[in-house]
Amino acid sequence: MVIAVTLIFFVFGLIIGSFLNVVILRLNTEKSFGGRSACMSCRNKLSWYELIPVVSFIFLRGRCKNCKTKISSQYPIVETITGIIFASLFLKFQDIFFLDTIAFSFTYAYYVAMFSLLLVISVYDFKHKIIPDTLSFVFGILGFLGLFFFNASGLSMQAGFGPQLPPISEFLSGLLIAAPFAFFWFVSKGTWMGLGDAKLALGLGWMLGLSRVFSGAVVAFWIGAVLGLFLVLFKKNYGMKSEIPFAPYLALGAFLAFIFELHLF
Ligand SMILES: [Zn+2]
Repeated sequence: MVIAVTLIFFVFGLIIGSFLNVVILRLNTEKSFGGRSACMSCRNKLSWYELIPVVSFIFLRGRCKNCKTKISSQYPIVETITGIIFASLFLKFQDIFFLDTIAFSFTYAYYVAMFSLLLVISVYDFKHKIIPDTLSFVFGILGFLGLFFFNASGLSMQAGFGPQLPPISEFLSGLLIAAPFAFFWFVSKGTWMGLGDAKLALGLGWMLGLSRVFSGAVVAFWIGAVLGLFLVLFKKNYGMKSEIPFAPYLALGAFLAFIFELHLF
């Protein structure tokens, strides 16, 4: 039963993932978010089976059916990650799924939206080396509002849902995690870290609570350090000066801290 439902949520995530791809692609461009998708190269409108997430990419061997232009691997990657987000969040909240449908729906919808937003921010940062202010603003607002509905500390077993007044420490969590990032930005004059990471950290702190957000940030630095080391070893022209998009690491760290309830301190 759990496996079947997990799979349904995974497939649902794949579908939302293909929508997220459109959002990432058309964000800050003149194009609207509606309308049928078309090949970027020959403008050929995609038929229904070319819109099936991941499967169509594998089936078409990553090329347009019409002009054989390579399709960006961003598509299946974002779709798969969204699928994983949807499936993992279901597994995390599976107890309330079977007990309290309304609490599950609200909790699930909230965290799925937050992590989808984080994915959009990460891919955008990876591609353009900038986090759009609008996205971190929306993320921050949602993170702050979440304080009043969800048990953000993650320290109690259940994700308690319902209107609540969070403790002062949870109000401060966003500011406390954003402060070191803002400090790095300030002392390095933006070379180590962009101010965008500090703005993103604000929302992360409110969403995860102090314990998990600091654990997530530490995990993000570990992963960043290991990958950075690999890049230094295999790519010679890689120095501290080249801008590293840090949002993907932060998002991954946050996701791991949330799913596995990391409380390192
Ligand atoms: Zn084409």
